[in-house]
Amino acid sequence: MHLIYGGTFDPVHHGHLRLAIELKERLNIEQVVLVPCHVPPHRAQPGADSHNRLALLRLAIEGEPGLTVDDRELGRDGVSYTVDTLRQLRAELGADEPIAMVVGTDAFAAFDRWHDWQVIPELAHIIVVNRPGAELTSDGLPAELLLARQADSPEQLHARPGGLTLTVDLPLLAISATGIREAIQAGRSPRYLLPDRVWAEIQALGLYLGS
Ligand code: ATP
Repeated sequence: MHLIYGGTFDPVHHGHLRLAIELKERLNIEQVVLVPCHVPPHRAQPGADSHNRLALLRLAIEGEPGLTVDDRELGRDGVSYTVDTLRQLRAELGADEPIAMVVGTDAFAAFDRWHDWQVIPELAHIIVVNRPGAELTSDGLPAELLLARQADSPEQLHARPGGLTLTVDLPLLAISATGIREAIQAGRSPRYLLPDRVWAEIQALGLYLGS
């Protein structure tokens, strides 16, 4: 199964990295593919440009065979839509390969505002990770989608190319990129929230100092 984990990664932190490792083990797959976005559609513009965010991500996963980076969204002009990435992957991997995307409940709560969101379940499975403080409400289109296509086990995802949803509870770390950016800007240390190599590079590049 090809599992993509998209995000702004502004910057990548241990919350992202632990989530990826936990998922890899929980779903019994060889690799999780981290997909940094170029221009995020649903939020303010990032504090670091996409090339710097990509460089930090590469540093973060160095030496970890279970994680890899797909930089395809940086090669597309304009806003990075997940549906476009999934269409490309489906064309490359063929109709039968299981593809899944992972998203936190914070991001999934607004799933029905994503570009062409109805097409996404036709292209891939959706794995929704419960993020503390961002519990999904039981009504609304995202909740309906989750329920209507719900799988009971990861094995079901391996058996079909797409179309299912899976909710997973993982021991998540209470770390956010927003908190890290705010700490750096305020002159506080974000050390131990993200890999040392990433923090060293942020300092070397002078990132996240401005407002
Ligand atoms: P920001 O604070 O800038 O919004 P973020 O830390 O939420 O950033 P994103 O790059 O926006 O990170 O998140 C990408 C994906 O990672 C989202 O699906 C989000 O739910 C998930 N995620 C973010 N932080 C964590 C965490 N600490 N543990 C698990 N998942 C996380």
